[in-house]
Amino acid sequence: MTDLLLRDARLPDGAGPVDIAVAGGRIAAIGRPGAGPSGAAAVIDCAGDAVIPGLVEPHLHLDKAMLDAEAPPSDGTLADAIAVTGRLKAAFTRESVRARAGRVLEQAVGHGTTLIRAQPDVDPIVGLTGFEAMLDLRAAYADLVDLQIVAFPQEGLLRAPGTEDLLVEALRQGADVVGGCSYQEATTEDCRAHVDRVFALAERFGVPVDIHADLADDTADPRFALAGHIADRTRAHGMGGHVTVGHMTSLASLAPDTRKRVLGELADAGVAVVVLPMTDMHLGGRHDEANVRRGIAPVSDLLDAGVRTGLSSNNVRNAFTPYGVADVLDVALFLAQTSHLASPHDLARLVAMVTDDAAAIVGHGDRHGLRVGAEADLVVLAAPSATEALLSRAHRRAVVKRGRVVATTEHTVQLHRGR
Ligand SMILES: [Zn+2]
Repeated sequence: MTDLLLRDARLPDGAGPVDIAVAGGRIAAIGRPGAGPSGAAAVIDCAGDAVIPGLVEPHLHLDKAMLDAEAPPSDGTLADAIAVTGRLKAAFTRESVRARAGRVLEQAVGHGTTLIRAQPDVDPIVGLTGFEAMLDLRAAYADLVDLQIVAFPQEGLLRAPGTEDLLVEALRQGADVVGGCSYQEATTEDCRAHVDRVFALAERFGVPVDIHADLADDTADPRFALAGHIADRTRAHGMGGHVTVGHMTSLASLAPDTRKRVLGELADAGVAVVVLPMTDMHLGGRHDEANVRRGIAPVSDLLDAGVRTGLSSNNVRNAFTPYGVADVLDVALFLAQTSHLASPHDLARLVAMVTDDAAAIVGHGDRHGLRVGAEADLVVLAAPSATEALLSRAHRRAVVKRGRVVATTEHTVQLHRGR
């Protein structure tokens, strides 16, 4: 029995048309129109529009979203964003986090996101409040979106005593991933110790690692040159494929030979990189008086080096990122515009980064994708190919989660001529 039939669809690259049959929450068949079994319980007429796998946000601070109305950003630096948000989060309640984060989750689902790795702060300022709100949302929105939860020590470990005990408690209560924020520590030695402690927790609880490694314009400060150390630790713990680093903006400043060597180390060790262009470009280059740096990790070089690379919104409407609507396809377009990515090959790679590659980064590669047997997490685009949707900011006609339609959008423009 076919539960849902997506009729007259195109594949992400525009090939087709095809019919996509869904049964038992999985993709049962992809074939010529009309060739499959008849009598589906529900039908979406794609009318020649493309279907892509569900979008994935591998790095999203839901707990800190939508704070811009409470305190607008001041000088636009990373230190200021942390300080402004630190003051606000002292007053967070489980209910207030749930309300703001829930609004963003609903936006994300409407845009086609079916899987999110959330990064709630866990530290002595906010305690477990943000994390517990994520547990609530994971259960409340389970029919719409999968939510992975990272226990994220935004304020550091050595600099913020008590944080490690809170991380342990979050991992005991069901955090899926242990986070890190090494750039917060005071010395290079402490940054390395921070990374080492995060890996020790990962081993103890059998969970993946996701570290905010650096968010710097360059590596003049040796605290922000940790890629080699993280690659070493990944190899030492046998965790290749289970370690992700976010931001890593300083990689863009490395001279070509050094960059090639460092990216090779990340690729060999199996460390993935998630680029967060809206935040990185907003906070980066703040001390440059001329030729302001873009502050975005070198995406083409990462991909060419064989580093698994994703991208994500990071923040939505707060001091770290005063923009955004939780639409990761829109973030992909921003990355295209800011990283010299324009060829058909580049645009196809960007679409992969927000679907299949991001799913693999968060450990869902085996069940995600537009292929028979995969979970039926699908998006019907209002465009005949994925790259056309990327370039034209096409809306998402329908979003399917485990075989069920969970969101639909209609968009109509009418011109009213004067004669
Ligand atoms: Zn982040």
